[in-house]
Amino acid sequence: MVLPCDRHGVRGCRFHVERGRVKVNQSLIPAARPIIGDEEREAVDRVLRSGMVAQGPEVKAFEAEFGEQLVGGRECVAVNSGTAGLHLGLLACGIGPGDEVIVPSFTFAATGNSVALTGATPVFADIEPDHFCLDPRSVRESVTERTRAIMPVHLYGHPAAMAELRAIADEHDLLLFEDAAQAHGARLDGAPVGTFGDFAMFSLYPTKNMTSGEGGMVSCGSPEVARQLRLLRNQGMEVQYANEIVGFNARMTDLHAAIGRVQLTKVGGWTDQRRANAAVLDAGLADVDGVTTPPVKDGATHVYHQYTIRVAEDRDRVVQALREEHGVGSGVYYPIPNHRLPSLERYAPGLDLPRTEEAARQVISLPVHPSLTEGDLERVVEGVRATVRAGA
Ligand SMILES: *Cc1c(COP(=O)(O)O)cnc(C)c1O
Repeated sequence: MVLPCDRHGVRGCRFHVERGRVKVNQSLIPAARPIIGDEEREAVDRVLRSGMVAQGPEVKAFEAEFGEQLVGGRECVAVNSGTAGLHLGLLACGIGPGDEVIVPSFTFAATGNSVALTGATPVFADIEPDHFCLDPRSVRESVTERTRAIMPVHLYGHPAAMAELRAIADEHDLLLFEDAAQAHGARLDGAPVGTFGDFAMFSLYPTKNMTSGEGGMVSCGSPEVARQLRLLRNQGMEVQYANEIVGFNARMTDLHAAIGRVQLTKVGGWTDQRRANAAVLDAGLADVDGVTTPPVKDGATHVYHQYTIRVAEDRDRVVQALREEHGVGSGVYYPIPNHRLPSLERYAPGLDLPRTEEAARQVISLPVHPSLTEGDLERVVEGVRATVRAGA
């Protein structure tokens, strides 16, 4: 059904024809949308007017507030990116050349990169299919004499199987870390993510559940790890010009911390909205043949950094049709497993991770962010229903 549209002088219709194809007259619903408002602008202005913009009192306050609100009072150290948080966290825990760290391959490359940057070897394990997180059985099979640590990712905002991974770590005397880049506020069996590991990293990149512009927050399992991180962040100095170890400049600025502090007051409400949006998508897509909606494990609180479905067939066609015919943006996280990337494949010659590869072929992340309207959600549901049916 093709109606005349406002391009032809009639307002309010949804379609027009362009070069023989039906196009939708509506703006694209973006896959992600950072929310930055007046309060963030005023906070930055306040820091600018103070004349002191580098790491200072705002960073200190941000660390304390983040620790209180999100990780049960654990000591937190702010850095200038999530990737720096992983890299420095690994170094602070003594990871280096000769060590192996077991990580998922189905994640953003920063997970494996940070291990490789320490000189250690990332060892890629497979995922369990329901929640896309590390499969403890695959982790167990990957342990060798050189294994020093396990670093699961709470992918898409769903907590990894921390109890099972803790048991493996204890059994083999391994450290346990958390890549919580996508999981601010997620919980498992009553405890927030970021409280299970020897360290945990939260990313503050703009598309994450909260942002500071760029940045990372590391939650520390002990005062020693926190102290090492503070040294590594600042050229190895606690006392100025008395450099104790070789370190980086990975400091967060007070400008970024000021934004992060405002976002911290809002992230709880945004998470509630993400969860409510996910419930609408769950209900709307439950009965669609060829679509698997994301299940949540008993005892887990999912914070839906992404709402990720699986489609049985021809994922790329679905992504394209959603965008072009329904005005629905979506994302594919991640199309190439880390162990197949040119940058990381040398760590995993010949490795076969069937569940990871299947997920990489099937996943689509639909918009779930807190600024979606009811109409947007309806359009997402309608779009998926029509597209998957049309291809069936
Ligand atoms: C975003 C992300 C990172 C890296 O965080 P940055 O702040 O972008 O450096 C690491 N791991 C995962 C799983 C991520 O999603």
